[in-house]
Amino acid sequence: ATPTAVMVATGKGASQGVLIKGGNALEKAHKVKTVVFDKTGTLTLGKPEVVSAVTFSGYSKENFCDMAAAAEANSEHPIAKAVVEHVKRQHQKYGSQTAHVTEVKDFEVHTGAGVSGKVGEAIVLVGNKRLMRACSIPVGPEVEDYISKNEQHARTCVLVAIDGKVAGAFAVSDPVKPDAKRVITFLRSMRISSIMVTGDNLATAKAIAQEVGIDNVFAEVDPAGKADKIKELQMKGMAVAMVGDGINDSPALVAADVGMAIGAGTDVAIEAADIVLIKSNLEDVVTGIDLSRKTMSRIR
Ligand code: ADP
Ligand code: MG
Repeated sequence: ATPTAVMVATGKGASQGVLIKGGNALEKAHKVKTVVFDKTGTLTLGKPEVVSAVTFSGYSKENFCDMAAAAEANSEHPIAKAVVEHVKRQHQKYGSQTAHVTEVKDFEVHTGAGVSGKVGEAIVLVGNKRLMRACSIPVGPEVEDYISKNEQHARTCVLVAIDGKVAGAFAVSDPVKPDAKRVITFLRSMRISSIMVTGDNLATAKAIAQEVGIDNVFAEVDPAGKADKIKELQMKGMAVAMVGDGINDSPALVAADVGMAIGAGTDVAIEAADIVLIKSNLEDVVTGIDLSRKTMSRIR
């Protein structure tokens, strides 16, 4: 496209809340045949809430909740915030004193899995089944039951292990964005297919995918794996767009022909992207591609 055409389209995009960083993205977006969506914070609201809490192996609810909150207070992950918020609310509800922030030693983040640390004398792990497996903590049938029931309902389970035993679990719900299904349907009408890649487990991912009308799901994918998935699609000769909000999406945003960041997402994702959806509306994925189609057809 001519510099003038790019300038006009860029200005038009900006006025609609679609920030296009340079002509390259604009010249590529009209070729996009596949859009890869991150799940958490992209297709979902990214505001998870704890909807249930259970204990196992005879632990007291208050004890495991306080241990979990102490460990998660050190994490930036939205799930961690949901856990801390839930435990605070429980304390308020039952009039017990707000748990004072317990010091956590040896705190560690396990990317795509959870967190761990020493709370007082106890070794506490908070995260998914993968984290438990990696730390050789047995997950019994009672726990498995709770997990599968919740995952079917698109909820993510957070397990809490204290001194080598699963002491309790939370079920976390993160609703899909109201416009997600409409956008996937509209993209299909433009002959663009949609794919989901997520760090979350397959059952939860599939339940969310079904809600929004995506058939193609890749779960338990780490940040490098997300970028590999993009490259794999490109190898088939497809122009690929990636839509994401997290630090864990940034390698994929860079690898994609067109990286699109959710405006409400992390700074790292916004920097890695070619296009920023300022209003955080998924509809603006279509706005961006449309703008490119119109610009490129005008000059050809
Ligand atoms: P996504 O790709 O969906 O944004 P992440 O890669 O950030 O997901 O995390 C993948 C999974 O790892 C989460 O679904 C959750 O099960 C687990 N996880 C990551 N961080 C935490 C944490 N701080 N507390 C509990 N679970 C966590
Ligand atoms: Mg995300």
